[in-house]
Amino acid sequence: MNRCAIVEDLLPLYVDNLLQEETKQWVEEHLPQCPSCQTALAQMEEVITVDLPNPNEEAAKTIKKVTRQMKRYEFILVTLAFLLAMRTTIIPELTFNGLWAYALLGGLLYAFYRTWLPPIVLSFVPSFLYYVQDDFGDASFTEIIISVASMGTIYTLLSLIGAFIAYAWIQALQKEEQR
Ligand SMILES: [Zn+2]
Repeated sequence: MNRCAIVEDLLPLYVDNLLQEETKQWVEEHLPQCPSCQTALAQMEEVITVDLPNPNEEAAKTIKKVTRQMKRYEFILVTLAFLLAMRTTIIPELTFNGLWAYALLGGLLYAFYRTWLPPIVLSFVPSFLYYVQDDFGDASFTEIIISVASMGTIYTLLSLIGAFIAYAWIQALQKEEQR
């Protein structure tokens, strides 16, 4: 029997990884020796990638559109959030509003950038800058750095909480879109 004909019949199953281990090995033994079956396999893989319907495509499109709209306001909103964060940092105590501002900052930044770095950097840097010029008396350099860094960390954590809420929200929206 023509081995190529059998291999070609098996290729759809092979591509979908549905063959028994033994059959799979048999196909794999044949492939390197046979350019025509290799071509058939390549074509099949191509067709599968092209034809595969993407259920997320619509959702991705919607999200892209929303992201594009958000990008337009991104600079203004991020600047506002940053200023808000700076202002709250300058208010000495961690007031409830202050917590809010940082969570909001983190949430906005995450929603815009979809990564965790901006919420971390943009909350750590302003609080760090603010506290580093504080009067530390005769504290040593290490003490100053630790104290400033821990203040920065508190704000960063708050910002990350906001970012996480945004993350969870975006995930939920995406799931909703996929339905
Ligand atoms: Zn062949």
